[in-house]
Amino acid sequence: MGGCAKPISPEPRLTDTARPDPITTSAYVSPAVARMEQPLPVEIFTPRNISGRTLAVATTSDIVLKPGEVVLTFDDGPRPGKTPAILDTLEDYGVKATFLMLGSAAEANPRLARKVAEGGHTVGSHTYGHVDLSKLTRQEAINEIVKGEEAVAAALAGSGKAAAPFFRFPYLSQTGFLRTNLLQSGAVVLDVDIDSKDYYRDSAAVVAQRTISRLDARGSGIILFHDIHQRTVDMLPAFLDQLARKGYTVVRLVPRNGNIFGRDLITAGMAQGNAEQL
Ligand SMILES: [Zn+2]
Repeated sequence: MGGCAKPISPEPRLTDTARPDPITTSAYVSPAVARMEQPLPVEIFTPRNISGRTLAVATTSDIVLKPGEVVLTFDDGPRPGKTPAILDTLEDYGVKATFLMLGSAAEANPRLARKVAEGGHTVGSHTYGHVDLSKLTRQEAINEIVKGEEAVAAALAGSGKAAAPFFRFPYLSQTGFLRTNLLQSGAVVLDVDIDSKDYYRDSAAVVAQRTISRLDARGSGIILFHDIHQRTVDMLPAFLDQLARKGYTVVRLVPRNGNIFGRDLITAGMAQGNAEQL
């Protein structure tokens, strides 16, 4: 299974950072890469509503999709200049997605975080600083998860929309201890069925085709994107157009048990006696 922006050796990890500053990311782009980032030829799509069921989930195992159903998830944002364009495209197709935000990014861009929630999308968390939790002590990992949840919740404050107790492991790097604790605390751990690998330096068209091919092979699933890449912005209209043509519908995930404060956050206390490094 691919990672959530897993670094690809020997390339440095450029495209999936906790830094919300797009200029920082752009500064890494070499001219050769920039040439690959040319936008797709302008295509005229006629968006149509492809929204499907709304699925209220209390736990990960509640996410059971039927053939032809997809869930759209976007990690690592919100990112100015990228997330708003993605929201516009989702609106064109009448669909709602789940955004697993970094606490650091939500903290840096609270208005944008609220805009996502106010658009009817589900907002969960993805740690504070996008660290590989399997490399931390249990205590450190829990602190990182909680810090991320709290930062996302704080960013949404005043929006009238609460953060969902939805969580995705950075790099999809989990431990049994952390997964069990999250699930026992009432969190919904969002796994990935189809990794778009939109963090590869492929063209938008390649990302769209790869994702559709994997979806067609599987028939349904939770799709992983990142709302921090221009290629993801560029590929989304063509991708959703293909979903429409092929008859897929987009399932909206919502929390059944309310916001993150409706449950017991995992706490440092739960890790006592289990504080050895995993
Ligand atoms: Zn991520």
